[in-house]
Amino acid sequence: MSTEIAPLTSGLALGHLLRDEVLVGGRWRTGTGAVIDTVDPSTGVTFAHLHAATVEDVDEAVRAGERAALESGWRAALPHERAGVLRRVGDAIERRAEEISALQTLDTGKTRGETLALAHSAAATFRYTAAALETLEDQVTPPRGPYLTIATWEPVGVVASITPWNSPIASDAQKIAPALAAGNAVVAKPPAWAPWVTLLLARITEEAGLPPGLLSVLPGPGRTVGEALASHPRVGKLTFTGGTTTGRHLAHVAAEKLMPATLELGGKSPTIVFDDADLTQAIAGVLYGIFSSTGQSCIAGSRIFVQRTIFDDVVARLVEATRRLRVGSGTDPRTQVAPLVSHSHRDQVAAMVDAAVADGAQVLIGGGVPADPELADGAYYLPTIIGGVDNSARICQEEVFGPVAVVLPFDDEEDLIAMANDSDYGLASGIWTADYRRIHRIAGRLVAGTVYVNTYKQFSISTPFAGVRDSGVGVEKGREGIRSYMRQKSIYIDLSGEPLPWAAEQARAVDPTSTGS
Ligand code: NAD
Repeated sequence: MSTEIAPLTSGLALGHLLRDEVLVGGRWRTGTGAVIDTVDPSTGVTFAHLHAATVEDVDEAVRAGERAALESGWRAALPHERAGVLRRVGDAIERRAEEISALQTLDTGKTRGETLALAHSAAATFRYTAAALETLEDQVTPPRGPYLTIATWEPVGVVASITPWNSPIASDAQKIAPALAAGNAVVAKPPAWAPWVTLLLARITEEAGLPPGLLSVLPGPGRTVGEALASHPRVGKLTFTGGTTTGRHLAHVAAEKLMPATLELGGKSPTIVFDDADLTQAIAGVLYGIFSSTGQSCIAGSRIFVQRTIFDDVVARLVEATRRLRVGSGTDPRTQVAPLVSHSHRDQVAAMVDAAVADGAQVLIGGGVPADPELADGAYYLPTIIGGVDNSARICQEEVFGPVAVVLPFDDEEDLIAMANDSDYGLASGIWTADYRRIHRIAGRLVAGTVYVNTYKQFSISTPFAGVRDSGVGVEKGREGIRSYMRQKSIYIDLSGEPLPWAAEQARAVDPTSTGS
């Protein structure tokens, strides 16, 4: 082991959740891979070690999952039977929400308020999925002959779920719940930076009665464990959330196997303030859109477009309001901007801001680490607003995934649409205006999977979520989210009792019971 483990500083009893074990095909055991040091980003202190899984574990987990789905009866179980287990998982998550929240804050640095909300949202995802599962219907389609035709759905087999570190419990639930609901087994690969919550979720599913082997959790490096999982021949579907570069690579892996893949990727989302907007509402929403989760959100509203007539006023207000945001540890209930997930990620964010400045950008607020000596050891970066750039600048085109926004003026709707859509990404967007006709016009023209109007970063499990362009392929959430883990099958059942006419004569001629009349 590379580092001594310091005692947990959170004061919460989490030690029992930090067992050095991964879950492979129904068996908890020490991973056979390299040791992962898990670090509290608010202090830089290593709080636990975990042996990662390996490529061999992937094969064992996939094959065990396939067996478990068949032998436990999960694949053949009726919807209400699977729904019963999923509901119990949801209830158990709810009961243990404080524990999940504390663990996730320790692992990712996020505020307790946010991780608690994520835990409740994961519980809701399991419950919603259970309810929606019971409403999914097969179809009897209109026949064109003497037969009954049924369009039905069946599980794909084993689902590979590969997730990032920014909202582990929510990303896991969003994938694992519908994949299990559809009758599949799941092999989950959480990120090395934040593996603990996914392991806890697996313990919760076991306690709620999910048959052993149906869910494996293999934390480990993407390039080995993740790659082996996505390319495993017995995996029938990939669901991935993460960066666009990784997603594009995995799309090739999936294409090679002719395997369906849902890819939820990065973003550089525009948030747009028109001069008729309620500015108090707009400023609160814009700040929340970019600086909550310390900007580590795929839909972070990182490009702030402000109509030129109010640009100076709005930018001044944004800067002043940003100065008042409370930066601190995620365990302090007053904190709004917590540390980033790791020191290396913080340094990467800082390097992107420095590069923008070297290219001529102006830092209007932030642009460095906090001066507070109490925060010196954590992975902190001040909420930052950058001006003096145009939309083609790298800082306006590349995802920072940190608390960094650019402000850009626009003159009219045409000018705005041209700039807002001038991006490789198309994940989310926000509009702040009082004009409902404009809302309708602009929402239709923005290239984005989600449009928020006078609000931002709201989520509902019943509402589909998808990205376009480099932000992804496929849809999660909603009833269709469950269907995405199934494949369709058509069944034709003869109702006539007659041989098909084309070879009826020949068939009758060779039928020994035929009278030949
Ligand atoms: P990442 O792409 O580096 O890693 C994501 C996951 O993929 C991790 O588990 C990683 O280990 C694994 N991985 C890496 N290389 C792999 C490979 N070759 N084969 C298989 N697996 C591999 O992303 P990240 O830095 O962890 O997360 C941040 C990114 O995720 C941002 O771009 C963010 O926008 C995106 N994200 C998107 C959404 C969405 O819903 N669209 C949500 C959250 C985060």
